[in-house]
Amino acid sequence: MKFRDLHRQYEAMKAEIDDAMASVVESGAFIMGEPVRELEMQLADYVGVRHCITCASGTDALRLALMAWGIGEGAAVFVPDFTFFATAEAVALQGAMPIFVDVDPVTYNIDPEDLVRKYRMVTERGDLRPVAVVAVDLFGLPFDYESVSKFCRDHELYLLEDGAQGFGGICRGRKACSLGDIGTTSFFPSKPLGCYGDGGALFTDDDEWAAKLRSLRQHGRGADKYDNVSVGLNSRLDTLQAAILNVKLRHLDDELRMMDRIAGYYSDHLCGQVITPSVPDGYRSVWAQYTIQHCYRDALARSLAEKGIPTAVYYPRTMSRQAAFANIRYLQEVNPVALRLADTVVSLPMHPYLSEQEQEAIVAAMF
Ligand SMILES: *Cc1c(COP(=O)(O)O)cnc(C)c1O
Repeated sequence: MKFRDLHRQYEAMKAEIDDAMASVVESGAFIMGEPVRELEMQLADYVGVRHCITCASGTDALRLALMAWGIGEGAAVFVPDFTFFATAEAVALQGAMPIFVDVDPVTYNIDPEDLVRKYRMVTERGDLRPVAVVAVDLFGLPFDYESVSKFCRDHELYLLEDGAQGFGGICRGRKACSLGDIGTTSFFPSKPLGCYGDGGALFTDDDEWAAKLRSLRQHGRGADKYDNVSVGLNSRLDTLQAAILNVKLRHLDDELRMMDRIAGYYSDHLCGQVITPSVPDGYRSVWAQYTIQHCYRDALARSLAEKGIPTAVYYPRTMSRQAAFANIRYLQEVNPVALRLADTVVSLPMHPYLSEQEQEAIVAAMF
């Protein structure tokens, strides 16, 4: 059994994917070919925003957004303490200070109340300028858009949505990746919409930022290839990856429905025994992970492994406990919910092609 079985997905779409890849190879347009433009139109349409700008990874997407806003030294950027490293790494790499905010014990997403506390602590010290919040759609569930976006508007902060795990999710009728001033996603193979390598994208309704992002992803390009108006990155999505994503996007909504059924099966059979994920009313999760909490997490994972069932721990260490950030701990913050989650979470196999027999075997092996 596989934790996320990408081969079964390939089997299901093999003819279409093979065709799409062959036509890119035939065309020879490996960089910024027609499938890239087509994908950007389809993705913008799916998410419901004016602009989609593809790039080389979800990490680059975060960096490019911060670059477009001119965020660097002297800026404080609020990020959840419980997330994948890249969320905070992109902030630090731009020279800004990541401020680690605790997460909500039910949704695992950034806690709007702790955001208020951390904002106050930063303004009281007074040597950094608060400029942005990065809110993550962790494990596929969109963040608390209403509270966080109101806070950002009231305090004139940019809101960046890290939708690397959230593409396809919904929050009160709005699609994930449209919830921030800029939204980003990742096409890493195991993400909800994954390609066959690295890839990412940015989403925004703002025409000026979109133009800036298109320039920054190609070395800060100006009027032509050898006119450079700013210092940017080489961060384009390969045409081959775009062609693969054009196929997979057509199947995404079916796959999301399949995963919803599997999540429902898990939750029906596991609730009361372990803490199962909860999806608030008006939200749709895309089940980037099906993550439970268990006080003997390591023992449970070992016993499942002995029965041939793979699990994974996302994430065993909070951002504020990462060695990489040991020297830039601005608030010396202690975030109790994030710390507890790092000790208790474990994710079960989850992908659209998990068979009924496999689902039954997993549930049976839990007890
Ligand atoms: C995967 C991920 C990223 C980084 O995406 P890459 O494409 O691997 O660079 C950023 N943030 C979160 C929350 C992620 O899960």
